[in-house]
Amino acid sequence: MYENLLADVPTDLWIGGKWRKASDGGRFDVIDPATERIIASVASATVEDAIAAIDAAEAAFEGWASRKPRERAEILRRSYELIMRDAERFAKLITLENGKALPDSRSEVAYAAEFFRWYAEEAVRNIGDVSRAPASGARILVHHKPAGIAVLVTPWNFPAAMATRKIGPALAAGCPVVLKPASDTPLTMLALMPVLEEAGVPAGVINVIPSRSSGKVVGAMLHDPRVRVVSFTGSTEVGRKLLREAADNIVKPAMELGGNAPFIVFEDADIDAAIDGAMIAKMRNMGEACTAANRFYVHEKVHDEFAAKLTARMASLKMGNGLDEGVNLGPLVNKDGRDKVIELVNDAVEKGARILTGGRVPDGPGFFYPATVLDNVPDNAKMLNEEIFGPVASIQTFKSEEEVIRRANDTEYGLVAYLYTRDLSRGLRVSEKLDFGMIGLNRGLVSDPAAPFGGMKQSGIGREGAHEGMMEFLETQYVSVTW
Ligand code: NAP
Repeated sequence: MYENLLADVPTDLWIGGKWRKASDGGRFDVIDPATERIIASVASATVEDAIAAIDAAEAAFEGWASRKPRERAEILRRSYELIMRDAERFAKLITLENGKALPDSRSEVAYAAEFFRWYAEEAVRNIGDVSRAPASGARILVHHKPAGIAVLVTPWNFPAAMATRKIGPALAAGCPVVLKPASDTPLTMLALMPVLEEAGVPAGVINVIPSRSSGKVVGAMLHDPRVRVVSFTGSTEVGRKLLREAADNIVKPAMELGGNAPFIVFEDADIDAAIDGAMIAKMRNMGEACTAANRFYVHEKVHDEFAAKLTARMASLKMGNGLDEGVNLGPLVNKDGRDKVIELVNDAVEKGARILTGGRVPDGPGFFYPATVLDNVPDNAKMLNEEIFGPVASIQTFKSEEEVIRRANDTEYGLVAYLYTRDLSRGLRVSEKLDFGMIGLNRGLVSDPAAPFGGMKQSGIGREGAHEGMMEFLETQYVSVTW
């Protein structure tokens, strides 16, 4: 099964349109989290390789930036079509290296490809503005230039989509990129490169350099004066480090960081709809998503019904190797990820939480953790302040609107919040008071290439998707002119 899937997957560095070994010959292993077997050995870029990738991006920059927007758009559109042609192959590869069940991987591929289609349409809408200066009467002419070489750093939880969400807008804007994918899941991006080459992306416009020395390699690139943008998706802790490094050369940062999403169910909510939304908000990607519902606040009047229905749905999920049809809960990505979930559940239970379903780690191999619901989770449980990043729902009750807004906002994160109510005016009133970049109002899914995705507070800086996503890769220039 593996052998067929992996036969055509490249495992070296993609620099300047060619496959290269690492300059020191270094490699690292990629593991299937369902079996704990080594499935590939991938070249590990050194600082020297990273600088070679910047050289390749520099060589490609002028040619790419000066292509007509329509030509860039056509290449992006073709990229979308070719990914969809190969969708099943990419879905299986994602499952193999990340663990998520095939239905999740298929959704991810469609979502990932859509960033190319959306930005094919945006590439031709890089519009500017002309106005008259009120005092002098001079013309104020505003236009947007490609910002320059962009370094992209992505996490393992969406091996395709977190990268295409950056590559699409960067290429639409005219910027070449150097991408460092997560070490747990480098294969999907390597496999994508021949497809993008077939779509017409010129050599050097995209360079992919997996590396086990992430800190050194990314640090060296951020200190290269040719790099003008760093777009990072990952933990707040690493984001903070990259912001410090980006400060030295004032590299333009876009940061998509961690979350701690509240999921609020008011007493007038359609409970069945809320359960459907909860299953998506919690279980998409087995809970390994920055957007995952981390804290369920359920009005005390509907708590029993919500808890019983959520427990039944969670208990009905089939856990197993994500490649097997019918499975909807695969393993977590690695041992550390699962150990963290175990620790958070034990902590909550020791402090008084009650397990309604799940909570028992199955025998190996594989980093499996069952769908789990915890009720009466006490305020001092660690899982209410940290990302669980696993298939565990923690339920608490509330009595009033003011109380739940205060508790939902009581976090340093501000990525996404979900709320369910049949009263639209309450829904909008509460949405406005929630300090989160995105709100799912009677919806458990907010991710959409056409919408500005991003967080407030320590969840990030900037937005991905929509027109805003392309602006991260553009510089605004103003020309003062009299004619
Ligand atoms: P992570 O540990 O922060 O790693 C993310 C990326 O940064 C990986 O490519 C990693 O490389 C690299 N990295 C690690 N240390 C680095 C350093 N010192 N300098 C430069 N690069 C470094 O995050 P993760 O565990 O992969 O992903 C989970 C996190 O991502 C969660 O916090 C989640 O909320 C967040 N996330 C946010 C969004 C969003 O849009 N807001 C979306 C998805 C995920 P290695 O793999 O080699 O360590």
